[in-house]
Amino acid sequence: LSFSSCNFHQKLLQNLEDAGYEIPTPVQMQAIPAALIGQSMLVSAETGSGKTGSFLVPIVSYCVKLNNNNQQKPQAIVLAPTRELCIQVEEQAKLLGKGLPFKTALVVGGDAMAGQLYRIQQGVSLIVATPGRLIDLLIKHDIQLDSISTLVLDEVDCMVQRGFLDQVMQIFRALSQPQVLMYSATISREVERVAGSMVKNLTIILV
Ligand code: AMP
Repeated sequence: LSFSSCNFHQKLLQNLEDAGYEIPTPVQMQAIPAALIGQSMLVSAETGSGKTGSFLVPIVSYCVKLNNNNQQKPQAIVLAPTRELCIQVEEQAKLLGKGLPFKTALVVGGDAMAGQLYRIQQGVSLIVATPGRLIDLLIKHDIQLDSISTLVLDEVDCMVQRGFLDQVMQIFRALSQPQVLMYSATISREVERVAGSMVKNLTIILV
């Protein structure tokens, strides 16, 4: 697999090059083609493996193909355990989506909810959120999630440890059978159980 052999938008290929992504990392080699054909998966990958790109590249590609106008409905949600991780994911997403019809919203604690809500209402393709804050937003405001086709759970093991599982499941249940991309440094029984409860045909990728 090379990035240029994937049927990506020219500007996405340019953004990958500008970001210094020349050769896909091992996790990207396995996860990108599987994600592009809509498979759900559980991936064992650590920070530094290029895991973020492995879910963002297919998401950006998919959203760009879908959105020919400015009315962006959210297509994907990335849930991550911490505000800091969410910020990093959103930064990478912005880099990959630069100059493309691909907008992002960051939904984390510490910033005013009104601004986050406004941004979503203006039209975004991707929401990057911590589970608790996204639920707060969903309880207080009417946000349409029926367009979400992909849910990413980053650092699932960490979310389980922090007790975010119920919130993650609550968000999952608000969606209509999305593709689920799960990433975890370690794949424990608990992580496998969570994954199995969401998805029947799960592709497991061990890097
Ligand atoms: P991550 O594992 O997602 O935390 O990514 C680690 C770092 O690797 C990030 O700073 C990325 O910008 C970088 N990176 C991701 N994919 C590639 C790639 N294919 N080639 C070079 N650098 C990459």
